[in-house]
Amino acid sequence: MIPAEFDYVAPANLAEALRILNEHGEDAKLLAGGHSLIPLMKLRLARPELLIDLRNVSELRGIRQEGDRLRIGAMTTHAEVAASILVNQQAPALAQAAYEIGDRQVRARGTIGGSLAHNDPAADLPAVMLALDAQIVLRSSSGERVVAAGDFIRGMLETAIEPNELLTEVRVKVAPRSAYVKFPNPASHYAITGVAAAVEGNGNTSAARIGVTGAAPIAYRASGAEAALAGKALSADAIEAASAAAHDGRELLGDIHASAEYRAALVRVLTKRALQKIAG
Ligand SMILES: Cc1cc2nc3c(=O)[nH]c(=O)nc-3n(C[C@H](O)[C@H](O)[C@H](O)COP(=O)(O)OP(=O)(O)OC[C@H]3O[C@@H](n4cnc5c(N)ncnc54)[C@H](O)[C@@H]3O)c2cc1C
Repeated sequence: MIPAEFDYVAPANLAEALRILNEHGEDAKLLAGGHSLIPLMKLRLARPELLIDLRNVSELRGIRQEGDRLRIGAMTTHAEVAASILVNQQAPALAQAAYEIGDRQVRARGTIGGSLAHNDPAADLPAVMLALDAQIVLRSSSGERVVAAGDFIRGMLETAIEPNELLTEVRVKVAPRSAYVKFPNPASHYAITGVAAAVEGNGNTSAARIGVTGAAPIAYRASGAEAALAGKALSADAIEAASAAAHDGRELLGDIHASAEYRAALVRVLTKRALQKIAG
C-alpha cells in the first residue's frame, strides 16, 4: 500500500514548526521517527495533507539533568535513551525499556516523543512514565503547559495533546532504584504486558510507583501494589504481597496474543520481577 498524497515540510527550528502547525492544525501531522505514522498512512488510516518533519529541530534533542529530574527532548531516539549513561544511572527503568523496544532499526529512528504521542496500549514507555512520575511538556504557538503522565495518557491511542500542540520534552523523576521488565510479543516485541517500578527511600520504602502497560486498554498505576510496599523494606514477603495486589481488580485485555487471565498472571509475575530487580 502507498499513502495518499501529502505535502511535506521540514522546519529548521521549533518556532517555525509551531507556526506551521498552528496554520494547518488537524490537516497536518508531525513526523518524528515515522515508525507508527507511516504504517498508518500506508493503510490510509491517517491521511494528513501535510507532514511536518521534526528531523532538523535540534532543540528537541538531548538528555540532561536538572535537579531531581532528567529532561529528555522529544526527538531523542530510543537508542540514545538506552545508551545514555545518565539515564542508566539515574532512571534505569527508562534505559531498560528503551533498550527493549522493537529491534535495532526501530530504536535507531523511533523517538520518545513519537512513542508517547502515539500512545499504543502495548507500548513500553507509558508504564515507565507513570513509574517515574513524568511531566510531559506540550508547546503551541501561544505557550507551554506541563501535564502529569497520568493525565497525559487518556485512552487507546489518545493523549492530552491538542492539534496545535507539539510534545517538546519529557521530564522524568530521578529514580536510581527503578526497573522495567516485560513479556514481549515475539514478532513485534511490543509488550503483551510490561511493568515499571520505582522505589524511593533507603531501607524502608517511603514511596513506590508501579506502572503497568499492555495489560489494560491504557497504562495504569498499580496503586494496590504501591500501597502494599509503603513503609516496608523490599523483602521477599513485601514483594510477594505487592505482586499479588498489582492486578488491582481491573478489567484486562484479552486478544489473540493473550487472554485476560494470562495477562493478570503476567502483571503479578512481572511486578515481582521488577521489584526483585530493584532489590538486587
Ligand atoms: C516493527 C516495530 C516494532 C516496534 N516495537 C515496539 C516495542 O517493542 N515497544 C514500543 O513501545 N514500541 C514499539 N514500536 C513503536 C516505536 O516505538 C515507534 O518508534 C513509536 O511508536 C513512534 O515513534 P516515532 O518517533 O516513530 O513517531 P512517528 O511514527 O513519527 O509519530 C507517531 C505519532 O506521534 C505524533 N508525534 C510524533 N512526534 C510528536 C511530537 N514531538 N509532538 C506531538 N506529536 C508527535 C505523530 O504525528 C504521530 O501521530 C515498534 C514499531 C515498529 C515499526
